[in-house]
Order: sequence, then C-alpha cells, then structure tokens
Amino acid sequence: MRAAFPLSLYVHLPWCEQKCPYCDFNVSTDLPSNFTEFQSALLADIESSRGWIKDRKFSSIYFGGGTPSLVNPNLPEKILDFLRAHQLIDGDAEITIEFNPKETKAENLHRFLNIGFTRFSVGIQSFDDDVLQGLGRNHTSHHSLRAIEELEKIKSKKSIDLMYGCPNQSEDSALQDIRIIACSTINH
Ligand code: SF4
Repeated sequence: MRAAFPLSLYVHLPWCEQKCPYCDFNVSTDLPSNFTEFQSALLADIESSRGWIKDRKFSSIYFGGGTPSLVNPNLPEKILDFLRAHQLIDGDAEITIEFNPKETKAENLHRFLNIGFTRFSVGIQSFDDDVLQGLGRNHTSHHSLRAIEELEKIKSKKSIDLMYGCPNQSEDSALQDIRIIACSTINH
C-alpha cells in the first residue's frame, strides 16, 4: 500500500491597510477589533475536513492574504495550536507568513517566530519610490531596505517578492532591485 502523501494548508487572512489598485485578491480594509468569529469559522472548517484529511499531516502551512502581518499574532497562534493539538502538523513542516515591509521589524518577526513560524515572505515589490508609488503601495523604499536588514538578522527561511513591468519602472530601476537582493543573503 502506498504511503499517504502529506498535505499543504493555505490560510487566507484577507485584511489590508489599503487596497492596491492592481490587486485582484479577496481583501477587506475593515480590520476587525477581534478575530473571534473568523477564528471559530476557520477552526470549524478545518474540523469539518478531518474526514478526508484522515491521518495525514500538513508539511506546508502558509498564511497569506491580505496582509497577515497586520493581524494580532493570537489568531495564527490559536490556529497552529489547534492543528498541533490534533497532530496535524508534520515534525519538520514549513510554516510561512506573509509580511508587509512596514511591519517587518525585529519585534514583529520575533513574535511570529515564537509562535512557530519558520519562514517569512515579504512583499517588497521594489526599492524604488517612484515604482512603489505607481503601484499604489503603502510602503516606501525606506521600508523595503529596512525589511531586508531585519530579515537578514533572523534565523529562519525567508523570501521576498519583486515586481517587474510596473508603471514608472525603468530597466535601470529593475536591475537595481536585482542588485540589492543579489548582495543580500535572501536567496528566494
Ligand atoms: S497588500 Fe497585497 S493583498 Fe493587500 S491590497 Fe495590496 S496587493 Fe492586495
């Protein structure tokens, strides 16, 4: 009999500070004051899937959005606690959360590391203020550069997103984005 293959779980946290004009994701700018209702619905959804999950475990868990770094860490902590209590997480699972550069500060990264996250994915998009402005992003090149510095200090897996073919983006600007990353220890 073939061994059951592991599963991946994507958790969508749909809140953002503002909506980027190019975004097609399911996003709300109405961040709730507490996440009790969302948490209960999400855990009930996982519970109702136990029948087909059977004894398999999640080898990859990904909290995306939206801007998951905006939420109170208690929410992902409760979700991970639930999965652990039901022995649904593989021993060496990769557990990722998406961050906005504005929130990529040491204290925030450590709060999520302490919960059990093993990988951070940061939406840098560009290091050029004109490009970021053209995209309607809520962060600046200062936030992008600081995010890289902070990511380099922590021991975890990390990745960043860059965007190309954007309004206000020259070839030089795009190449400069690549140079900055090539000089860092971020390898994904
Ligand atoms: S931050 Fe990301 S998810 Fe939020 S509106 Fe912008 S592109 Fe969409």
